[in-house]
Amino acid sequence: MQTKLDNEIQFLAGVGPKKAETLKEELSVKTIADLLQHFPFRYIDRRHFNTVSEVNADSGYVQLKGKISQFQTIGKGRAQRATAQLVDQTGSLELVWFKGVTWLKSNLKPDKYYVIFGKPTTYGRKINLAHPEMEEADKFENSAAGDFMPVYNTSEKMKKAGINTKAFSKIILSAIAVLNDSFYPESLPAMLIQECKLMGLKDALVNIHFPQSRELLQKAETRIKFEELFYIQLNLLKQRAIKKKIYKGAVFEIIGENFNHFYNNCLPFELTNAQKRVVKEIRHDLKTGKQMNRLVQGDVGSGKTLVALLCMLIAIDNGYQTCLMAPTEILASQHFKSICEFLGEMNVNIRLLTGSTKKAQRTIIHEELLNGKLQILIGTHALLEDIVQFKNLGLAVIDEQHRFGVAQRAKLWKKNSIPPHILVMTATPIPRTLAMTLYGDLDVSVIDELPPGRKPIHTVHYFDSSRLKVFGFMKKQIELGRQIYVVYPLIKESEAMDYKDLEDGYESICRAFPRPEYQVSVVHGKMKPEDKDFSMKQFAKGETQIMVATTVIEVGVNVPNASVMVIESSERFGLSQLHQLRGRVGRGADQSYCILMTGYKLSEDSRKRIKTMCGTNDGFEISEADLKLRGPGDIEGTQQSGVAFNLKLANLAKDGSLLQYARDKATEIIEKDPELQSNDYSILARQLDRLFSKKIDWSNIS
Ligand code: ADP
Ligand code: MG
Repeated sequence: MQTKLDNEIQFLAGVGPKKAETLKEELSVKTIADLLQHFPFRYIDRRHFNTVSEVNADSGYVQLKGKISQFQTIGKGRAQRATAQLVDQTGSLELVWFKGVTWLKSNLKPDKYYVIFGKPTTYGRKINLAHPEMEEADKFENSAAGDFMPVYNTSEKMKKAGINTKAFSKIILSAIAVLNDSFYPESLPAMLIQECKLMGLKDALVNIHFPQSRELLQKAETRIKFEELFYIQLNLLKQRAIKKKIYKGAVFEIIGENFNHFYNNCLPFELTNAQKRVVKEIRHDLKTGKQMNRLVQGDVGSGKTLVALLCMLIAIDNGYQTCLMAPTEILASQHFKSICEFLGEMNVNIRLLTGSTKKAQRTIIHEELLNGKLQILIGTHALLEDIVQFKNLGLAVIDEQHRFGVAQRAKLWKKNSIPPHILVMTATPIPRTLAMTLYGDLDVSVIDELPPGRKPIHTVHYFDSSRLKVFGFMKKQIELGRQIYVVYPLIKESEAMDYKDLEDGYESICRAFPRPEYQVSVVHGKMKPEDKDFSMKQFAKGETQIMVATTVIEVGVNVPNASVMVIESSERFGLSQLHQLRGRVGRGADQSYCILMTGYKLSEDSRKRIKTMCGTNDGFEISEADLKLRGPGDIEGTQQSGVAFNLKLANLAKDGSLLQYARDKATEIIEKDPELQSNDYSILARQLDRLFSKKIDWSNIS
């Protein structure tokens, strides 16, 4: 239906073609309806006043009440400006104008109280307020405006075109007038609005711009946030339901000889309850005849490899092949080694395929994959190559999944006529809210328990100036027979400098820990794979006591005897990376330590990160803190996820319970009507189409 809201904004009072063009360029706003979707980023409580004494350079927007005195003009013509003092009970603040001086001269009333609003800036050492918004106090108090004044984000270009936040709110006010006069279609079904006690869309739009009270503002926000979160969840759950319907999966009915033999005779320790639960969840999936798409989240050291192995044995017992893909060669080899050790004498055909696998070996692998002899293939991206063809791939396990892009995962699907079951494992715990959004179309299992006997890692922070003390501590640990990692940051933008840091650090460690008493290894990305490998092996075998490295060792490396992790310039690492690095120690029975070195100067965020690390070992707690500090857009893995993250109002870090509520509602609906075909849901189907069609190809996302 065509309504006045579909008119172009240039016909709105106060806009015109030039401003309309600017708004179109800057905000992609064409119609009045579009304009209403540009929400304030905050509100000023009109009943709250700051005092002049409170104002400082970081105050942000302030609202003050006082008399304006000492008005004076300086200069002439175009260079003319005016200053005055705003005086309240607590002091005075300078106001400055570069424009409209003549008007001010004749209109300012020196004996009147004014309400002024603006953002103070520093000018030299002085603080002043340029071009404040002003209103006579009695007019302000009698005005019909609500208690909350919207503040909009405006760009430089908008300001140049005469659209500052005040002008913008005037434009919005005219748009609201049109809205009040028009029919505005609802975007949620009436039933849902009633059931969830949500504000109607039209009311919500009016109140999000010009709330009449705090309560109404909150209701409006809730309504809009709910809708944002709800449709993302509805879309994910619908995709999941459709996938389950379309994609058949191999049925793994039996628990056979391999699994039983391993479980009864080879398992070196009792599974943790969490491991048992997750294996059970997976076993259930594998019997349904639908393709499994499951994410296993488990902190570093929680024993994911073993869970994967048990599932792979189930696949083998049912006559299928299985593969495990890891993001780096080091990790893949380590998995290969530990799985071979686990299996011991068992008669399972298992091989390793990486970029450096020799041609002859490769040929054997390709052959055995095709004739079905090869049962477990472990490797890197090399597994994705087209030449790698299976006879009957039933289960693909992907470790450390955030390192792989969606497209790469999708390739695995094509390795079999019935797509293989997919088990994704990640050691980067993701906050629940984020997992629900990022992996909302996957089933999620959590290993939330570490094997018994692990001592929590003791984490401490030292400034660089205490390095000698740290060296002393390292020597004591080496005397006790332990090994130590020293890690340097390596960030692409400052690569050359970082390598210098690493080289300098390596030299100073070699000086402090001289041969022959001490042996030091070094590993970094610029080394040849075989040299890297050699160094890693030396350290793993205990031939060297110290490993100086960049973050190449971040993922998965397992040397149980290493009990100290020293992280240099730790203020430069993100929380999840720090946590991953710390996870390299604490793998054996000994008390382990993580030492975070930093310079003296720390930003507020770095300080918080360090504090979080020293305060907890819990990966989920850390990921929540990370989400709060960085916001969802920056959390590892989100950029490549393809999920729409341009939430306007909802915040995944703060609106967790609303998200859960929205997901529950979406679940109820999808359970009743997975394809949204009933008339009751026609609005839902239409909105999903509008919001998500074509943007993302969901068909192959695992
Ligand atoms: P991650 O989840 O980080 O991949 P791993 O699978 O590498 O963890 O397991 C870490 C260590 O814990 C390994 O040495 C593994 O053998 C051991 N482990 C796994 N499960 C158990 C268990 N139930 N009891 C004791 N040790 C275990
Ligand atoms: Mg692992």
